[in-house]
Amino acid sequence: QTHFLFLSLQAKMSRPVRARRLEGIDKNIWVEFVKLAATYSKVNLGQGFPDFPPPDFLKEAFVKTVSGKNHMLHQYTRAFGHPPLVKILAQFFGKLLGRDLDPMTNVMVTVGAYQALFYCFQAFVDEGDEVIIIEPFFDCYESMVKMAGGTPVFVPLRLKAPKDGKLMSSADWQLDPAELASKFSNRTKAIVLNSPNNPLGKVFSRGELELIADLCVKHDVLCISDEVYEWLVYDGKEHVRIASLQGMWDRTVTIGSAGKTFSVTGWKVGWTVGPDRLLQHLRTVHQNSVYHCATVAQEAVAQGFQRELELYGKPESYFVQLPKELQQKRDCLVQSLDAVGMKPIVPEGTYFLVADISQFKSDVPDVPDSDEPYDSRFAKWMVKNKGLAAIPLSTFSCGAHKDNYNNFIRFCFAKEEATLKAANDILQKWKREKTSP
Ligand code: PMP
Repeated sequence: QTHFLFLSLQAKMSRPVRARRLEGIDKNIWVEFVKLAATYSKVNLGQGFPDFPPPDFLKEAFVKTVSGKNHMLHQYTRAFGHPPLVKILAQFFGKLLGRDLDPMTNVMVTVGAYQALFYCFQAFVDEGDEVIIIEPFFDCYESMVKMAGGTPVFVPLRLKAPKDGKLMSSADWQLDPAELASKFSNRTKAIVLNSPNNPLGKVFSRGELELIADLCVKHDVLCISDEVYEWLVYDGKEHVRIASLQGMWDRTVTIGSAGKTFSVTGWKVGWTVGPDRLLQHLRTVHQNSVYHCATVAQEAVAQGFQRELELYGKPESYFVQLPKELQQKRDCLVQSLDAVGMKPIVPEGTYFLVADISQFKSDVPDVPDSDEPYDSRFAKWMVKNKGLAAIPLSTFSCGAHKDNYNNFIRFCFAKEEATLKAANDILQKWKREKTSP
C-alpha cells in the first residue's frame, strides 16, 4: 500500500511546475559571479556598487526620518510614490526636461530602476511584440522582454578602430544607422535606450539620440530610457535626455535610480518619469503587484533631492562632486590597466570600464569548442587565481553574439582609493610574473 501511495504521489509531482515564461531565463550570471567574488576575491571590481559611504546629508536624512516624531513615516504612504518624493522629482526633472510635470501623473516611484524596467515590459509588451535592444546591454532587458512574451531584437554597437596610439574610448562604439533602421518594423513596440550605457560607459551623443528618436517617431515606437547613470558623465560631456527631443516626450518613459544617484544601491528607490498616457499603465502593474515602496527610504531620498535642487549646478552639489571624484577613480584604473597591457576602453560615463584581455590569453588558454565564452572562463580564472573580480563582457550580449564580446571584461571603479590601489598591485604583480621566466 505504501508503495502504491508513493507511486501516486510521484505521478502527481511529475506535472511541470515551471511556467513557460521562465523558459531559457533560469540561469543568472550575477548569482554565479557574486558568489565567486564572495568566495575568492581579494579585490572586488565586479558587481556595480560603491564601496565608499553615501553622502552624510543623505544618511542624516534617513536617520532623522527613522527616529523623528512623525511615526506615520513608518507606515504605508501613497501607493504610486510618497508625496514629498514625487513632488520634488516632478520639480527637478521638470526643470531638466523644460516642461511642467504633474507629480501625481507624470512620476511614479518603484523598488529600484530594476522594477521600473520590469513594469515597462509588463505594461507595454504583448506576445509577439518586438523590442529593440542595443548591444552590449544591461542583461536583464533580454529576460524581462522574454518574460513579458516579447521578442528581443538586438542591434550592436560596433567598435571603430581608434586613431593610432590613442586609448580606445567608449565613443568608438557606434551604431550603424542603416543597421539600426533595418530593425524597426510594424512589429516593433519599443526600444530600450541606456545612456550612459552599462557596460561600456558610452554616453550617446545628441546626434545618435536624434537618429533613434526619428526612427521612434517614424514607426510609432515607445522608448524605455534607462538613465540611472545620468549624473556620472565625465570630461565635460553632456547627458542628453531623449525625452527632451522633438516628438519623444509622449512616447518615452525615463527611468532613474537613487541607488546610483546618491550611492545607496541597497535602498532600492527608483522612479519613472513620463506622460500620463504611458505611466497610467505602469500604475496598473504596480497596484496589482508591489503596490507600495518603503516610505522611510522615499522620504530620505526626497530630502536629498530637495538639497540638490537648492544647490543645483553649484560646486557643493553632490551631482557635481560625485562625477568629479569618479573621473579621478576612472583615470586611476585606466592607468593601472594600460600599464600592464590590459587595454582599457576609457568610458565617458557610468562607473564601469571595459578592458581588452587579448594580451593575457597565454595565461588562460582557449578551449576549442567550449560552450562557455572565453571571457567568462578568463574572469573565473582571474578571481580564483589572482583574487581580482570582474564581469565578462559577453554577459551583456545575447546568446548568438557572445563571441563578438569575448575578449573583454568589465570592471567597476566606484571604489575607495585603497581598493583601486590593491587592484593595481595585483595587476602589477601579475605582469611581473608574466614577463619573468
Ligand atoms: N539599469 C542599469 C543600466 C543598471 O546598471 C542597474 C543596476 N546595476 C539598474 C538599472 C538597476 O538599478 P536599481 O539598483 O535602482 O534597481
